[in-house]
Amino acid sequence: DTFTRNRLQKKTERTCAMIKPDAFLNAGKIVNAIVRSNLRINQLRMCKLTQQEAAQFYAVHSERPFYPKLVDFMSSGPILAIEIVGEDAIAKWRSLLGPTNSETARAERPDSIRAKFGTDNTMNAAHGSDSDETATTELDFFFGSGRVGQCANLSDCTLCIIK
Ligand code: GDP
Ligand code: MG
Repeated sequence: DTFTRNRLQKKTERTCAMIKPDAFLNAGKIVNAIVRSNLRINQLRMCKLTQQEAAQFYAVHSERPFYPKLVDFMSSGPILAIEIVGEDAIAKWRSLLGPTNSETARAERPDSIRAKFGTDNTMNAAHGSDSDETATTELDFFFGSGRVGQCANLSDCTLCIIK
């Protein structure tokens, strides 16, 4: 019946993934991991955040001691912003990422993305939204009308490392 169907049916969600500057060269492998996990990439863009934009993206952490270091890191190179869609996409992507600290990830979840491609607790390869609400805000940040981040288009690319 309808009740049972609704209970068994998982929710289709959208989440905002981001491949951080430290893992940019491994973007292909990370994109591959998304696709292999039955998640769908709906939008993807490459850009570079200014310090102000990185500060805005992580504003929720502005009082934390690691904030200045995080903002410097997040504006240090190109990133890939990705809209992922799928069943339980938020939790599924966070699970693929593994623990926040890449060193912890290597101890506890050696197959996770942060274990394989990250370095420490700041440079941890990739981001994933933690709720429906943050997913909406973050997707709007990268893909909304007031989209943020310098364009890194092919014809006039000052970021591309493959010159
Ligand atoms: P996430 O949701 O797993 O990415 O973790 P948080 O939302 O708590 O933190 C955002 C980002 O800040 C993390 O992905 C790390 O890059 C960085 N970060 C979080 N906690 C720490 C910390 O204790 N020390 C340092 N240096 N960086 C941190
Ligand atoms: Mg977070």
